[in-house]
Amino acid sequence: MRRKQKRLLQAVGLALAALVFLPNVGLWALYRERQPEGGPGGAAAGGEAQGSHVRKRKEVYFDDGQRKKDWHDKEAIRRDLECTGNGEQGKPYPMTDAEQVDQAYRENGFNIFVSDKISLNRSLPDIRHPNCNNKLYLEKLPNTSVIIPFHNEGWSSLLRTVHSILNRSPPELIAEIVLVDDFSDREHLKKRLEDYMAQFPNVRILRTKKREGLIRTRMLGASVAIGDVITFLDSHCEANVNWLPPLLDRIARNRKTIVCPMIDVIDHDHFGYETQAGDAMRGAFDWEMYYKRIPIPPELQKPDSSDPFESPVMAGGLFAVDRKWFWELGGYDAGLEIWGGEQYEISFKVWMCGGRMEDIPCSRVGHIYRKYVPYKVPTGVSLARIRNIGTGLCADTKHGTLGSPLRLETCVKGRGEAAWNNIQVFTFSWREDIRPGDPQHTKKFCFDAISHSSPVTLYDCHGMKGNQLWRYRKDKTLYHPVSSSCMDCSESDRKIFMNTCNPSSPTQQWIFEHTNSTVLEKFNRNLDL
Ligand code: UDP
Ligand code: MN
Repeated sequence: MRRKQKRLLQAVGLALAALVFLPNVGLWALYRERQPEGGPGGAAAGGEAQGSHVRKRKEVYFDDGQRKKDWHDKEAIRRDLECTGNGEQGKPYPMTDAEQVDQAYRENGFNIFVSDKISLNRSLPDIRHPNCNNKLYLEKLPNTSVIIPFHNEGWSSLLRTVHSILNRSPPELIAEIVLVDDFSDREHLKKRLEDYMAQFPNVRILRTKKREGLIRTRMLGASVAIGDVITFLDSHCEANVNWLPPLLDRIARNRKTIVCPMIDVIDHDHFGYETQAGDAMRGAFDWEMYYKRIPIPPELQKPDSSDPFESPVMAGGLFAVDRKWFWELGGYDAGLEIWGGEQYEISFKVWMCGGRMEDIPCSRVGHIYRKYVPYKVPTGVSLARIRNIGTGLCADTKHGTLGSPLRLETCVKGRGEAAWNNIQVFTFSWREDIRPGDPQHTKKFCFDAISHSSPVTLYDCHGMKGNQLWRYRKDKTLYHPVSSSCMDCSESDRKIFMNTCNPSSPTQQWIFEHTNSTVLEKFNRNLDL
Protein backbone atom coordinates (compact mmCIF):
# COMPACT_ATOMS: atom_id res chain seq x y z
CA MET A 1 0.00 0.00 0.00
CA ARG A 2 2.71 2.42 0.96
CA ARG A 3 4.74 1.51 -2.08
CA LYS A 4 1.70 2.10 -4.28
CA GLN A 5 1.17 5.52 -2.72
CA LYS A 6 4.79 6.40 -3.36
CA ARG A 7 4.55 5.31 -6.99
CA LEU A 8 1.40 7.37 -7.40
CA LEU A 9 3.05 10.40 -5.90
CA GLN A 10 6.07 9.96 -8.16
CA ALA A 11 3.85 9.70 -11.21
CA VAL A 12 1.86 12.79 -10.25
CA GLY A 13 5.12 14.64 -9.60
CA LEU A 14 6.51 13.70 -13.00
CA ALA A 15 3.32 14.69 -14.77
CA LEU A 16 3.32 18.05 -13.03
CA ALA A 17 6.95 18.62 -13.93
CA ALA A 18 6.21 17.76 -17.55
CA LEU A 19 3.27 20.11 -17.54
CA VAL A 20 5.36 22.93 -16.23
CA PHE A 21 8.71 22.45 -17.92
CA LEU A 22 8.28 20.71 -21.28
CA PRO A 23 7.94 23.54 -23.75
CA ASN A 24 5.76 21.84 -26.36
CA VAL A 25 3.38 19.78 -24.21
CA GLY A 26 3.30 21.65 -20.93
CA LEU A 27 1.54 24.67 -19.58
CA TRP A 28 3.61 26.92 -21.80
CA ALA A 29 2.08 25.25 -24.83
CA LEU A 30 -1.43 25.91 -23.51
CA TYR A 31 -0.42 29.39 -22.58
CA ARG A 32 1.09 30.06 -25.99
CA GLU A 33 -2.11 29.13 -27.76
CA ARG A 34 -3.79 32.12 -26.24
CA GLN A 35 -1.10 34.65 -27.05
CA PRO A 36 -1.35 36.79 -30.17
CA GLU A 37 1.24 36.22 -32.88
CA GLY A 38 4.28 38.40 -33.10
CA GLY A 39 6.72 40.27 -30.95
CA PRO A 40 6.76 43.74 -29.54
CA GLY A 41 4.56 46.28 -31.16
CA GLY A 42 2.41 43.56 -32.66
CA ALA A 43 4.69 43.16 -35.67
CA ALA A 44 6.35 39.84 -36.33
CA ALA A 45 9.42 39.64 -34.16
CA GLY A 46 12.32 40.58 -36.34
CA GLY A 47 15.87 39.57 -36.94
CA GLU A 48 17.16 36.49 -35.27
CA ALA A 49 13.69 35.75 -34.03
CA GLN A 50 12.08 36.04 -37.42
CA GLY A 51 10.35 32.93 -38.67
CA SER A 52 10.59 31.16 -35.33
CA HIS A 53 7.86 30.95 -32.77
CA VAL A 54 8.08 33.93 -30.54
CA ARG A 55 5.35 34.75 -28.11
CA LYS A 56 5.00 37.17 -25.38
CA ARG A 57 4.69 36.56 -21.68
CA LYS A 58 4.96 39.81 -19.82
CA GLU A 59 8.39 41.17 -20.81
CA VAL A 60 9.92 37.85 -21.74
CA TYR A 61 9.68 35.96 -24.99
CA PHE A 62 10.67 32.41 -25.71
CA ASP A 63 12.62 31.71 -28.79
CA ASP A 64 14.45 28.46 -29.51
CA GLY A 65 14.22 27.62 -25.82
CA GLN A 66 15.90 30.89 -24.82
CA ARG A 67 14.43 33.68 -22.76
CA LYS A 68 14.66 36.96 -24.61
CA LYS A 69 13.31 40.38 -24.09
CA ASP A 70 12.74 43.68 -25.75
CA TRP A 71 15.45 45.89 -24.25
CA HIS A 72 14.19 49.20 -25.62
CA ASP A 73 13.61 51.88 -23.04
CA LYS A 74 10.34 53.08 -24.53
CA GLU A 75 9.92 55.86 -22.03
CA ALA A 76 13.37 57.35 -22.72
CA ILE A 77 12.79 57.05 -26.46
CA ARG A 78 9.53 58.95 -26.12
CA ARG A 79 11.18 61.64 -24.01
CA ASP A 80 14.00 62.04 -26.54
CA LEU A 81 11.52 62.51 -29.36
CA GLU A 82 10.09 65.56 -27.64
CA CYS A 83 13.40 67.38 -27.31
CA THR A 84 13.87 70.57 -29.27
CA GLY A 85 16.77 73.01 -29.26
CA ASN A 86 20.38 73.30 -30.42
CA GLY A 87 21.58 70.10 -32.00
CA GLU A 88 18.58 68.12 -30.74
CA GLN A 89 17.57 65.11 -32.83
CA GLY A 90 21.19 65.18 -34.06
CA LYS A 91 20.46 68.21 -36.24
CA PRO A 92 23.31 70.48 -37.36
CA TYR A 93 23.82 73.48 -35.13
CA PRO A 94 23.34 76.74 -37.03
CA MET A 95 26.81 78.25 -36.68
CA THR A 96 27.48 81.95 -36.69
CA ASP A 97 30.67 83.37 -38.20
CA ALA A 98 32.01 84.02 -34.71
CA GLU A 99 31.68 80.34 -33.96
CA GLN A 100 33.67 79.25 -36.98
CA VAL A 101 36.98 80.80 -36.06
CA ASP A 102 40.19 78.74 -35.91
CA GLN A 103 40.22 79.16 -32.16
CA ALA A 104 37.13 76.93 -31.86
CA TYR A 105 39.04 74.01 -33.35
CA ARG A 106 42.54 74.46 -32.02
CA GLU A 107 42.33 72.43 -28.85
CA ASN A 108 40.26 69.52 -30.08
CA GLY A 109 40.34 69.43 -33.86
CA PHE A 110 36.55 69.89 -33.75
CA ASN A 111 34.37 72.88 -32.93
CA ILE A 112 34.20 73.05 -29.15
CA PHE A 113 32.16 76.29 -29.23
CA VAL A 114 29.39 74.39 -30.98
CA SER A 115 29.76 71.41 -28.65
CA ASP A 116 29.36 73.72 -25.66
CA LYS A 117 26.07 75.03 -27.04
CA ILE A 118 24.48 71.59 -27.33
CA SER A 119 22.82 69.76 -24.42
CA LEU A 120 24.89 67.07 -22.72
CA ASN A 121 21.75 64.96 -22.95
CA ARG A 122 20.91 65.80 -26.51
CA SER A 123 18.55 63.52 -28.43
CA LEU A 124 19.72 61.61 -31.50
CA PRO A 125 17.79 60.42 -34.52
CA ASP A 126 17.03 56.71 -34.51
CA ILE A 127 18.56 55.88 -37.88
CA ARG A 128 18.73 52.15 -37.34
CA HIS A 129 17.26 49.72 -39.82
CA PRO A 130 13.52 49.49 -39.02
CA ASN A 131 13.87 45.79 -38.13
CA CYS A 132 16.00 46.76 -35.15
CA ASN A 133 12.87 47.94 -33.39
CA ASN A 134 11.56 44.39 -33.28
CA LYS A 135 14.71 42.60 -32.24
CA LEU A 136 14.83 40.69 -29.02
CA TYR A 137 17.96 39.91 -27.08
CA LEU A 138 18.75 37.47 -24.32
CA GLU A 139 17.04 38.32 -21.09
CA LYS A 140 20.24 37.61 -19.22
CA LEU A 141 23.12 39.58 -20.66
CA PRO A 142 26.62 40.03 -19.27
CA ASN A 143 27.35 43.49 -17.88
CA THR A 144 30.14 45.69 -19.17
CA SER A 145 32.81 48.10 -18.09
CA VAL A 146 32.89 50.97 -20.55
CA ILE A 147 36.46 52.19 -20.90
CA ILE A 148 37.07 55.67 -22.24
CA PRO A 149 40.67 56.79 -22.66
CA PHE A 150 41.15 60.51 -23.08
CA HIS A 151 43.96 62.92 -23.69
CA ASN A 152 43.11 66.60 -23.31
CA GLU A 153 39.52 66.01 -24.32
CA GLY A 154 37.08 68.94 -24.41
CA TRP A 155 34.77 69.29 -21.41
CA SER A 156 31.39 69.11 -23.13
CA SER A 157 32.44 66.43 -25.62
CA LEU A 158 33.71 64.16 -22.83
CA LEU A 159 30.66 64.73 -20.65
CA ARG A 160 28.26 64.15 -23.52
CA THR A 161 29.95 60.79 -24.09
CA VAL A 162 29.30 59.79 -20.48
CA HIS A 163 25.76 61.18 -20.43
CA SER A 164 24.79 59.42 -23.63
CA ILE A 165 25.99 56.09 -22.22
CA LEU A 166 24.13 56.55 -18.96
CA ASN A 167 20.99 57.79 -20.73
CA ARG A 168 20.82 55.06 -23.32
CA SER A 169 22.01 51.93 -21.53
CA PRO A 170 20.04 49.65 -19.24
CA PRO A 171 21.60 50.48 -15.83
CA GLU A 172 22.02 46.85 -14.88
CA LEU A 173 24.26 46.31 -17.89
CA ILE A 174 26.73 49.04 -16.98
CA ALA A 175 29.08 47.67 -14.35
CA GLU A 176 31.03 50.93 -14.48
CA ILE A 177 32.37 53.63 -16.75
CA VAL A 178 36.13 53.98 -16.45
CA LEU A 179 37.54 57.28 -17.65
CA VAL A 180 41.27 56.88 -18.15
CA ASP A 181 43.16 60.13 -18.37
CA ASP A 182 46.29 59.83 -20.51
CA PHE A 183 48.28 62.54 -18.74
CA SER A 184 46.14 65.49 -19.83
CA ASP A 185 47.23 68.94 -18.76
CA ARG A 186 43.98 70.84 -19.15
CA GLU A 187 42.61 72.21 -15.93
CA HIS A 188 39.01 71.14 -16.48
CA LEU A 189 40.07 67.49 -16.56
CA LYS A 190 41.42 67.56 -13.02
CA LYS A 191 39.43 68.36 -9.87
CA ARG A 192 36.53 69.80 -11.82
CA LEU A 193 36.05 66.49 -13.62
CA GLU A 194 36.31 64.52 -10.40
CA ASP A 195 33.74 66.74 -8.70
CA TYR A 196 31.39 66.44 -11.61
CA MET A 197 31.63 62.67 -11.86
CA ALA A 198 31.09 62.25 -8.13
CA GLN A 199 27.35 62.40 -8.85
CA PHE A 200 27.58 59.11 -10.77
CA PRO A 201 28.53 56.29 -8.39
CA ASN A 202 29.62 53.95 -11.17
CA VAL A 203 31.91 56.36 -12.99
CA ARG A 204 35.60 56.03 -12.07
CA ILE A 205 38.54 58.15 -13.09
CA LEU A 206 42.03 56.72 -13.47
CA ARG A 207 45.13 58.54 -14.57
CA THR A 208 48.34 57.41 -16.21
CA LYS A 209 51.58 58.60 -14.64
CA LYS A 210 53.04 59.71 -17.93
CA ARG A 211 51.79 60.09 -21.45
CA GLU A 212 51.20 56.55 -22.60
CA GLY A 213 49.24 56.87 -25.82
CA LEU A 214 45.87 55.35 -26.52
CA ILE A 215 46.89 51.71 -26.36
CA ARG A 216 48.51 51.55 -22.96
CA THR A 217 45.82 53.88 -21.63
CA ARG A 218 43.13 51.45 -22.76
CA MET A 219 45.10 48.60 -21.23
CA LEU A 220 45.27 50.39 -17.89
CA GLY A 221 41.48 50.73 -17.95
CA ALA A 222 41.02 47.11 -18.97
CA SER A 223 43.33 45.92 -16.19
CA VAL A 224 41.07 47.32 -13.48
CA ALA A 225 37.74 46.57 -15.18
CA ILE A 226 35.20 44.56 -13.22
CA GLY A 227 32.54 43.98 -15.89
CA ASP A 228 32.08 40.68 -17.70
CA VAL A 229 32.63 42.54 -20.94
CA ILE A 230 34.90 45.46 -21.78
CA THR A 231 33.53 48.10 -24.13
CA PHE A 232 36.01 50.63 -25.48
CA LEU A 233 34.80 54.00 -26.70
CA ASP A 234 36.54 57.22 -27.68
CA SER A 235 36.16 60.28 -25.48
CA HIS A 236 33.96 62.12 -28.00
CA CYS A 237 31.15 59.71 -28.77
CA GLU A 238 27.38 59.61 -28.44
CA ALA A 239 25.70 56.28 -27.87
CA ASN A 240 22.47 55.95 -29.81
CA VAL A 241 19.21 54.21 -28.94
CA ASN A 242 19.50 50.67 -27.50
CA TRP A 243 23.15 50.49 -28.57
CA LEU A 244 24.35 48.10 -25.87
CA PRO A 245 22.11 44.98 -25.76
CA PRO A 246 22.77 43.99 -29.41
CA LEU A 247 26.51 44.00 -28.67
CA LEU A 248 26.33 42.07 -25.41
CA ASP A 249 23.91 39.53 -26.88
CA ARG A 250 26.46 38.40 -29.45
CA ILE A 251 29.14 38.00 -26.80
CA ALA A 252 26.74 36.10 -24.53
CA ARG A 253 26.16 33.61 -27.34
CA ASN A 254 29.82 33.22 -28.20
CA ARG A 255 32.32 34.75 -25.83
CA LYS A 256 35.00 34.78 -28.50
CA THR A 257 33.07 37.25 -30.61
CA ILE A 258 34.36 40.81 -30.69
CA VAL A 259 31.61 43.18 -31.73
CA CYS A 260 31.64 46.69 -33.15
CA PRO A 261 28.75 49.11 -33.38
CA MET A 262 28.08 51.03 -36.56
CA ILE A 263 30.15 54.17 -36.15
CA ASP A 264 28.17 57.23 -37.17
CA VAL A 265 29.62 60.63 -37.98
CA ILE A 266 29.22 63.60 -35.70
CA ASP A 267 30.29 66.51 -37.87
CA HIS A 268 33.35 68.33 -36.53
CA ASP A 269 31.87 71.69 -37.52
CA HIS A 270 28.15 71.69 -36.77
CA PHE A 271 27.75 68.43 -34.82
CA GLY A 272 25.05 67.06 -37.12
CA TYR A 273 24.65 63.28 -36.74
CA GLU A 274 24.59 60.98 -39.75
CA THR A 275 25.83 57.63 -41.05
CA GLN A 276 29.20 57.18 -42.66
CA ALA A 277 29.19 57.12 -46.45
CA GLY A 278 27.71 53.78 -47.46
CA ASP A 279 26.88 52.96 -43.83
CA ALA A 280 27.28 49.22 -43.22
CA MET A 281 30.57 48.12 -44.77
CA ARG A 282 33.31 45.68 -43.94
CA GLY A 283 36.69 46.68 -42.60
CA ALA A 284 39.67 46.12 -44.84
CA PHE A 285 43.15 47.46 -45.54
CA ASP A 286 45.39 47.98 -48.49
CA TRP A 287 48.96 46.89 -49.09
CA GLU A 288 50.23 49.87 -47.16
CA MET A 289 48.06 48.94 -44.17
CA TYR A 290 45.72 51.86 -44.65
CA TYR A 291 42.33 51.08 -43.19
CA LYS A 292 39.45 51.06 -45.66
CA ARG A 293 35.79 50.28 -45.65
CA ILE A 294 34.55 48.14 -48.50
CA PRO A 295 31.00 47.09 -49.42
CA ILE A 296 29.79 43.70 -48.23
CA PRO A 297 30.04 41.36 -51.23
CA PRO A 298 26.58 40.22 -52.43
CA GLU A 299 27.23 36.57 -51.59
CA LEU A 300 27.87 37.48 -47.97
CA GLN A 301 24.93 39.82 -47.55
CA LYS A 302 22.35 38.62 -45.06
CA PRO A 303 18.69 38.30 -46.07
CA ASP A 304 17.99 40.74 -43.24
CA SER A 305 20.52 43.53 -43.56
CA SER A 306 20.01 44.48 -39.93
CA ASP A 307 21.62 41.20 -38.82
CA PRO A 308 25.24 41.09 -37.61
CA PHE A 309 27.87 40.53 -40.29
CA GLU A 310 31.48 39.44 -40.10
CA SER A 311 34.27 41.89 -40.64
CA PRO A 312 37.94 41.05 -41.30
CA VAL A 313 39.32 44.03 -39.38
CA MET A 314 37.74 46.52 -37.05
CA ALA A 315 38.03 50.29 -37.37
CA GLY A 316 39.68 50.35 -33.97
CA GLY A 317 38.09 52.79 -31.57
CA LEU A 318 34.73 51.36 -30.59
CA PHE A 319 34.15 47.72 -29.71
CA ALA A 320 33.11 45.27 -27.02
CA VAL A 321 34.97 42.14 -26.00
CA ASP A 322 34.59 39.54 -23.28
CA ARG A 323 37.01 40.67 -20.60
CA LYS A 324 38.64 37.30 -20.04
CA TRP A 325 38.88 36.64 -23.78
CA PHE A 326 40.60 40.00 -24.23
CA TRP A 327 43.31 38.90 -21.80
CA GLU A 328 43.46 35.40 -23.25
CA LEU A 329 44.31 37.15 -26.50
CA GLY A 330 47.09 38.93 -24.65
CA GLY A 331 45.37 42.32 -24.71
CA TYR A 332 47.19 44.74 -26.94
CA ASP A 333 50.90 44.79 -27.64
CA ALA A 334 52.03 47.21 -24.95
CA GLY A 335 54.78 48.52 -27.22
CA LEU A 336 52.31 50.29 -29.48
CA GLU A 337 52.73 54.07 -29.32
CA ILE A 338 49.99 56.72 -29.33
CA TRP A 339 47.66 55.08 -31.82
CA GLY A 340 47.47 53.38 -35.17
CA GLY A 341 47.86 49.73 -36.13
CA GLU A 342 46.27 48.41 -32.96
CA GLN A 343 43.09 47.56 -34.83
CA TYR A 344 45.02 45.12 -37.00
CA GLU A 345 46.80 43.54 -34.07
CA ILE A 346 43.59 42.75 -32.21
CA SER A 347 41.71 41.79 -35.38
CA PHE A 348 44.32 39.30 -36.56
CA LYS A 349 44.60 37.75 -33.11
CA VAL A 350 40.85 37.27 -32.84
CA TRP A 351 40.59 35.48 -36.16
CA MET A 352 43.73 33.42 -35.61
CA CYS A 353 42.76 32.32 -32.12
CA GLY A 354 39.38 30.84 -32.96
CA GLY A 355 37.30 33.93 -32.36
CA ARG A 356 35.28 36.07 -34.71
CA MET A 357 34.57 39.70 -35.32
CA GLU A 358 31.25 41.20 -36.17
CA ASP A 359 29.68 44.53 -36.96
CA ILE A 360 26.25 45.00 -35.48
CA PRO A 361 23.89 47.17 -37.55
CA CYS A 362 21.36 47.57 -34.71
CA SER A 363 23.98 49.15 -32.46
CA ARG A 364 24.95 52.68 -33.41
CA VAL A 365 27.40 55.06 -31.77
CA GLY A 366 28.33 58.49 -33.10
CA HIS A 367 31.96 59.60 -33.14
CA ILE A 368 33.39 63.03 -33.84
CA TYR A 369 35.88 62.63 -36.68
CA ARG A 370 38.39 65.37 -36.11
CA LYS A 371 39.45 67.94 -38.66
CA TYR A 372 43.05 67.50 -37.60
CA VAL A 373 45.05 65.95 -34.78
CA PRO A 374 45.20 68.62 -32.07
CA TYR A 375 47.63 67.04 -29.66
CA LYS A 376 51.35 66.49 -29.70
CA VAL A 377 52.49 63.12 -30.89
CA PRO A 378 55.75 62.75 -29.02
CA THR A 379 58.09 59.92 -29.93
CA GLY A 380 59.86 59.03 -33.13
CA VAL A 381 57.26 60.42 -35.46
CA SER A 382 58.40 61.85 -38.68
CA LEU A 383 56.48 64.95 -39.50
CA ALA A 384 58.33 67.97 -40.61
CA ARG A 385 58.22 71.13 -42.59
CA ILE A 386 60.58 71.49 -45.54
CA ARG A 387 62.02 74.99 -45.63
CA ASN A 388 64.24 76.28 -48.37
CA ILE A 389 67.31 78.18 -47.15
CA GLY A 390 67.70 80.39 -50.21
CA THR A 391 64.14 81.70 -50.29
CA GLY A 392 63.05 81.11 -46.70
CA LEU A 393 59.85 79.61 -48.12
CA CYS A 394 58.31 76.21 -47.41
CA ALA A 395 57.18 73.34 -49.59
CA ASP A 396 53.39 73.57 -49.63
CA THR A 397 50.61 71.37 -50.91
CA LYS A 398 47.72 73.80 -50.59
CA HIS A 399 47.25 74.12 -54.34
CA GLY A 400 48.76 70.77 -55.08
CA THR A 401 46.48 68.46 -56.96
CA LEU A 402 47.73 65.14 -58.16
CA GLY A 403 50.29 65.59 -60.92
CA SER A 404 50.63 69.33 -60.43
CA PRO A 405 54.04 70.81 -59.61
CA LEU A 406 54.91 71.30 -55.99
CA ARG A 407 55.08 74.93 -54.90
CA LEU A 408 56.67 77.17 -52.30
CA GLU A 409 54.63 79.27 -49.91
CA THR A 410 55.27 81.42 -46.89
CA CYS A 411 55.94 79.07 -43.99
CA VAL A 412 52.92 78.51 -41.76
CA LYS A 413 53.78 79.41 -38.21
CA GLY A 414 53.46 77.23 -35.14
CA ARG A 415 50.82 74.62 -34.65
CA GLY A 416 48.07 76.59 -36.32
CA GLU A 417 45.26 75.06 -38.20
CA ALA A 418 46.90 75.35 -41.62
CA ALA A 419 49.95 73.42 -40.55
CA TRP A 420 47.82 70.78 -38.92
CA ASN A 421 45.65 70.56 -41.96
CA ASN A 422 48.78 69.01 -43.36
CA ILE A 423 49.43 71.68 -45.94
CA GLN A 424 53.07 72.00 -44.91
CA VAL A 425 53.56 68.80 -42.97
CA PHE A 426 55.40 65.93 -44.59
CA THR A 427 56.24 62.37 -43.65
CA PHE A 428 59.51 60.66 -44.41
CA SER A 429 58.64 57.08 -44.15
CA TRP A 430 60.51 53.79 -44.01
CA ARG A 431 59.58 53.53 -47.65
CA GLU A 432 62.12 56.30 -48.29
CA ASP A 433 59.63 58.51 -50.09
CA ILE A 434 58.25 61.91 -49.05
CA ARG A 435 54.50 62.34 -48.55
CA PRO A 436 52.31 65.26 -47.53
CA GLY A 437 50.54 64.80 -44.22
CA ASP A 438 51.42 63.43 -40.83
CA PRO A 439 52.24 59.73 -40.61
CA GLN A 440 48.71 58.66 -39.71
CA HIS A 441 47.04 60.79 -42.33
CA THR A 442 49.39 60.94 -45.26
CA LYS A 443 47.68 61.60 -48.51
CA LYS A 444 49.42 58.79 -50.38
CA PHE A 445 50.89 61.25 -52.83
CA CYS A 446 54.65 61.24 -53.12
CA PHE A 447 57.32 63.64 -54.26
CA ASP A 448 58.08 62.52 -57.77
CA ALA A 449 60.44 63.72 -60.50
CA ILE A 450 61.06 62.21 -63.89
CA SER A 451 64.29 63.81 -65.04
CA HIS A 452 67.16 66.07 -64.03
CA SER A 453 65.25 69.15 -65.23
CA SER A 454 61.60 68.32 -64.56
CA PRO A 455 59.33 69.92 -61.99
CA VAL A 456 58.82 68.07 -58.71
CA THR A 457 55.23 66.84 -58.71
CA LEU A 458 52.98 64.97 -56.35
CA TYR A 459 52.15 61.61 -57.77
CA ASP A 460 50.41 58.45 -56.51
CA CYS A 461 52.86 56.67 -54.24
CA HIS A 462 53.98 53.40 -55.73
CA GLY A 463 56.28 52.35 -52.90
CA MET A 464 58.82 51.07 -55.45
CA LYS A 465 61.48 53.69 -54.78
CA GLY A 466 62.63 54.57 -58.34
CA ASN A 467 61.64 58.13 -59.16
CA GLN A 468 60.06 58.53 -55.71
CA LEU A 469 63.28 57.77 -53.83
CA TRP A 470 64.94 60.74 -52.16
CA ARG A 471 68.01 61.27 -50.04
CA TYR A 472 68.71 64.06 -47.62
CA ARG A 473 72.45 64.72 -47.68
CA LYS A 474 74.71 66.33 -45.12
CA ASP A 475 75.16 69.35 -47.41
CA LYS A 476 71.36 69.89 -47.02
CA THR A 477 70.53 68.97 -50.59
CA LEU A 478 67.61 66.71 -51.44
CA TYR A 479 69.17 64.27 -53.81
CA HIS A 480 67.22 62.24 -56.33
CA PRO A 481 69.34 59.18 -57.17
CA VAL A 482 67.42 58.14 -60.29
CA SER A 483 68.15 61.39 -62.10
CA SER A 484 71.39 62.12 -60.22
CA SER A 485 70.09 65.62 -59.60
CA CYS A 486 68.93 67.82 -56.72
CA MET A 487 65.72 69.58 -55.71
CA ASP A 488 65.91 73.29 -56.50
CA CYS A 489 63.42 76.16 -56.53
CA SER A 490 62.88 79.69 -57.72
CA GLU A 491 61.59 82.53 -55.62
CA SER A 492 60.04 84.47 -58.50
CA ASP A 493 57.51 81.85 -59.62
CA ARG A 494 57.68 79.71 -56.47
CA LYS A 495 58.22 76.51 -58.43
CA ILE A 496 60.13 73.50 -57.20
CA PHE A 497 62.10 71.59 -59.82
CA MET A 498 65.08 69.34 -60.40
CA ASN A 499 68.49 70.73 -61.28
CA THR A 500 72.10 69.71 -61.59
CA CYS A 501 73.40 69.44 -58.05
CA ASN A 502 75.15 72.50 -56.77
CA PRO A 503 75.48 72.16 -53.00
CA SER A 504 76.71 75.73 -52.64
CA SER A 505 73.47 77.15 -54.07
CA PRO A 506 71.15 78.22 -51.22
CA THR A 507 68.06 77.43 -53.32
CA GLN A 508 69.18 73.80 -53.30
CA GLN A 509 69.52 73.71 -49.53
CA TRP A 510 66.57 72.53 -47.50
CA ILE A 511 65.93 72.32 -43.79
CA PHE A 512 63.66 69.73 -42.26
CA GLU A 513 61.99 71.49 -39.37
CA HIS A 514 60.23 69.99 -36.36
CA THR A 515 61.67 66.58 -36.85
CA ASN A 516 64.30 64.69 -34.98
CA SER A 517 67.59 63.30 -36.15
CA THR A 518 66.62 59.64 -35.74
CA VAL A 519 63.86 60.13 -38.25
CA LEU A 520 66.25 61.49 -40.81
CA GLU A 521 68.78 58.81 -40.00
CA LYS A 522 66.19 56.15 -40.63
CA PHE A 523 65.09 57.88 -43.79
CA ASN A 524 68.64 57.85 -45.00
CA ARG A 525 69.52 54.42 -43.69
CA ASN A 526 70.66 53.05 -47.01
CA LEU A 527 72.56 56.17 -47.86
CA ASP A 528 75.70 55.26 -49.72
CA LEU A 529 76.60 58.50 -51.37
N1 UDP B 1 44.06 59.28 -26.77
C1 UDP B 1 44.81 59.01 -25.65
N2 UDP B 1 46.16 59.26 -25.69
C2 UDP B 1 46.79 59.73 -26.79
C3 UDP B 1 46.02 59.97 -27.94
C4 UDP B 1 44.65 59.73 -27.91
O1 UDP B 1 44.28 58.58 -24.64
O2 UDP B 1 47.99 59.93 -26.76
C5 UDP B 1 42.62 59.00 -26.75
C6 UDP B 1 41.72 60.09 -27.28
O3 UDP B 1 41.33 60.98 -26.27
C7 UDP B 1 40.56 59.29 -27.83
C8 UDP B 1 41.19 58.00 -28.29
O4 UDP B 1 42.43 57.91 -27.61
O5 UDP B 1 39.61 58.99 -26.83
C9 UDP B 1 41.44 57.95 -29.79
O6 UDP B 1 42.20 59.07 -30.21
P1 UDP B 1 41.64 60.09 -31.28
O7 UDP B 1 40.20 60.34 -31.02
O8 UDP B 1 42.53 61.28 -31.31
O9 UDP B 1 41.80 59.29 -32.61
P2 UDP B 1 40.82 59.43 -33.89
O10 UDP B 1 39.45 58.99 -33.43
O11 UDP B 1 40.84 60.87 -34.26
O12 UDP B 1 41.42 58.51 -34.90
MN1 MN C 1 38.34 59.75 -31.84
